[in-house]
Amino acid sequence: MSTQPELLIDKAYVAGQWRDGERRFAVTNPATGERLAEVPDLTAEDARDAVSAAADAWPAWRGKTAKERASLLRGWFDLIMDNQEALARLMTLEQGKPLTESRGEVAYGAAFVEYYAEEAKRMAGETLPSHGKDKRIMVFREPIGVVAAITPWNFPLAMITRKCAPALAAGCPVVIKPAEATPLTALALAKLAEDAGFPAGVINVVTASRPAEIGDVLTTDPRVRKISFTGSTPVGKKLLAQCAGTVKKASMELGGNAPFIVFDDADLDAAVEGAVASKYRNSGQTCVCTNRLLVQAGVYDAFIEKLAARVATLEVGNGLEDGVVQGPLINAAAVDKVQTHIADALAKGGRLVCGGEPHALGGTFFQPTIIADVTDEMRVAREETFGPLAPVFRFETEEQAIAMANATEFGLAAYFYARDYRRIWHVMEGLEYGMVAVNEGILSTELAPFGGVKESGLGREGSRHGLDEYTELKYVCVGGL
Ligand code: NAD
Repeated sequence: MSTQPELLIDKAYVAGQWRDGERRFAVTNPATGERLAEVPDLTAEDARDAVSAAADAWPAWRGKTAKERASLLRGWFDLIMDNQEALARLMTLEQGKPLTESRGEVAYGAAFVEYYAEEAKRMAGETLPSHGKDKRIMVFREPIGVVAAITPWNFPLAMITRKCAPALAAGCPVVIKPAEATPLTALALAKLAEDAGFPAGVINVVTASRPAEIGDVLTTDPRVRKISFTGSTPVGKKLLAQCAGTVKKASMELGGNAPFIVFDDADLDAAVEGAVASKYRNSGQTCVCTNRLLVQAGVYDAFIEKLAARVATLEVGNGLEDGVVQGPLINAAAVDKVQTHIADALAKGGRLVCGGEPHALGGTFFQPTIIADVTDEMRVAREETFGPLAPVFRFETEEQAIAMANATEFGLAAYFYARDYRRIWHVMEGLEYGMVAVNEGILSTELAPFGGVKESGLGREGSRHGLDEYTELKYVCVGGL
């Protein structure tokens, strides 16, 4: 870079100090391959320091009034929004998503900070009818303790605030381990938190290129009372097993295999717009993004034709350029996975409608792709592609669509488009998913509980339910009255 991007910080943040490491690792721009910065490659010892700092900060942090914590969160929210443009540029540089999406993510991520600043003041307990005339039952909600947050690269800002805002609101200090591809957004967020006045040790960011080393500390140190993880299902399962040794509470936001169902009675133009938003946003690298398009026989050809025409208008390029709606994929391994899924589907009888190849821009840019006539034997039926590939399956009946949608071990988000009132209720109730969008392609908001069932995870983020993940109930029985 000729000029240093605003808010680019190349040190980790532990115990209120900007910390260097003996080793460093590079952060690169996936659109250009250019090295943006080198950040400290911290070790298990640094991770233990961060946990110590958080544990030391806990008594004073939980001892603050809810209003004091709310006011710090509110100040952080204001600083995030004041720096929306700088944060968005940094995110596009290290992650690749188009600038408009990065701006949207900053606003979305900040909304959790604002929401939990408000919710901090509503963390109420309860009194209950007692089991004896001389006794009273009270239930207190208390902060669980030190929280470790391990986050992915696809939403470098929002996955952090979705965890940290409720944890901080509840009275828990946090140790954040951001993804190795996108640590710069995390460090910029920590800088803004420091500017907002959070006390030392309440927020720590441990950057590292060997995540397992840090993960081992965070999942086994008894002072960490809660792990909140967003990432792939295999890593989530490993962390969950590691948490068993100290019986840590864990929230897991894991992978998905979202169906997007288009029924005969759907508004096809609206369904196409919803499918494009859900499938190609963030180059298809979204946990809730459509992985399978299920289209009813009566509108199958018409839908594919309309979708192909719309996909042809998607501009691929460097996310910093105006008009670009699809950036690069995060790395070469991501491109490999998309290519493997395409080759597998075509070898088993899939029909290529458009795309299918790396983009002429080179690097990790990939053509938005549609494959029709996809069947259950193909890998895309079961595995998360995490790229700009839309596989289209055909179905005949409502029951068949529900069965196909549920035939996966995942259960994060599902989408469907229909007009018939009874059908809408029937399908919505039949889908085994944590989130269902009806005649909508995007459903994330801080106001609603986000999360999955089955192997897509445990726990919820957002809404008042998101605060519960960071509290414990303490039942107090007062007798002898
Ligand atoms: P990943 O599982 O490879 O990595 C996620 C995080 O875990 C990163 O910070 C990584 O460094 C860390 N990690 C990896 N191995 C670890 C270990 N052994 N110990 C401790 N930490 C470890 O996932 P990713 O590729 O960064 O993200 C993509 C995945 O995340 C997709 O499967 C996607 O569906 C999922 N995701 C889910 C949600 C959700 O809310 N359900 C949201 C975004 C992404």
